[in-house]
Amino acid sequence: MSKVIIIGAGGVANVVAKKCAQNDSVFTEVLIATRTVAKADKIVAEIKEHMPDSRAVFTTATVDADNVPELVKLINDFGPVMVINVALPYQDLTIMDACLETGVHYLDTANYEPKDVAKFEYSWQWAYQDRFREKGLMALLGCGFDPGATQAFTAHHAKHHFQEIHYLDIVDCNNGNHGKAFATNFNPEINIREITANGRYYENGEWVETQPLEISQDIYYPKVATRKSFVLYHEELESLVKHFPTIKRARFWMTFGEAYIKHLNVLEGIGMTSIEPIDFRGMKVAPIEFLKAVLPAPESLAAGYSGQTCIGVQAKGIGKDGQPKVHFVYNVKDHADCYREVQAQGVSYTTGVPAMIGAMLMLNGNWMQPGVWNVEQLDPDPFFDAMNQWGLPISELTDIELVKD
Ligand code: NDP
Repeated sequence: MSKVIIIGAGGVANVVAKKCAQNDSVFTEVLIATRTVAKADKIVAEIKEHMPDSRAVFTTATVDADNVPELVKLINDFGPVMVINVALPYQDLTIMDACLETGVHYLDTANYEPKDVAKFEYSWQWAYQDRFREKGLMALLGCGFDPGATQAFTAHHAKHHFQEIHYLDIVDCNNGNHGKAFATNFNPEINIREITANGRYYENGEWVETQPLEISQDIYYPKVATRKSFVLYHEELESLVKHFPTIKRARFWMTFGEAYIKHLNVLEGIGMTSIEPIDFRGMKVAPIEFLKAVLPAPESLAAGYSGQTCIGVQAKGIGKDGQPKVHFVYNVKDHADCYREVQAQGVSYTTGVPAMIGAMLMLNGNWMQPGVWNVEQLDPDPFFDAMNQWGLPISELTDIELVKD
């Protein structure tokens, strides 16, 4: 029986809102607040059309989430228990500030990034720890799929399968086809910043930096395909090696098709992925922001998207029985199923469902505790139950090493 605000109305917000509509005994009143309110109105219209039986009451509002006083007014006027932030990582801190000022809980799906430098780290948000704890409020960071479910998968490895995890490999395969020459599956600006940054992985207490997409191997993704996968830096590595100090090496792998890489190389080569603003007809424009305006919106890829995603975590180390062990936990999701269910593609779906689940586990008390938390610090068991119930069934494979040293 909770009132929540969802901030943002993009691909992920669409899924969060529709999953809240399905889960209407928990989410009774939902306000979708965003910059372009027409996008929120469209989501609400689709809920009314496709989910006429939902008892959740949806409203919409305009908000500039970079502006704390505006957020504070929005929150005070609506009176929610928590805010689900699925706008962009740039807005994390302003929304956290507004939550502190109004006394409401907070959840997001990506760590804060300053707009002017592609820097992925938790330091800014971890610095809110004392303020949230002292106010008796919870902030749950990065509760999408990766980050998010991947950390719950790691916590599950640690709780149920391993005495000590030594090697951790997070693998993310999108074996889907949206039929466009080039498009990104989530916000293009955030996605391209992530991929064009140097790669980084953790080994023996240190971060090893690589060129973008320098390291690759063919990885078999169960039930899906064998795909060439590349090491890139992903934010959950930072919190995982902190919270599981037995880890000797942690890497993150993602698949990219040849056509995708070719387009990206050209765009990068001609400066279109730069975040440095240039002068254009008297305006300052960051080329990547212009590129975003040209590329298809992630949510527009949903109709006609075929194929599956497979995201999982391989752990290697000492099993509960004291013997060497390798174990893999993963989910496979079909893009077309996501479209049929909530008019979304798989990447938005696999992010939005864990965000709804994280919010539910906070609201029903399973995870609620004051302070700033990463997903792996919380009990993975209720999260696994909810993933199986809400559309992202989890599978496990033991003693098969999918990712090689
Ligand atoms: P979109 O670009 O589709 O949506 C972002 C939404 O935020 C848009 O509706 C946008 O408004 C809104 N927005 C942006 N700036 C503001 C602002 N200042 N004030 C109010 N609203 C604003 O992105 P996605 O839905 O694909 O991604 C949402 C989040 O999910 C991102 O942070 C992304 O990094 C994260 N993500 C996490 C994943 C995970 O597994 N953990 C995977 C994929 C994404 P407008 O419509 O006007 O542009």
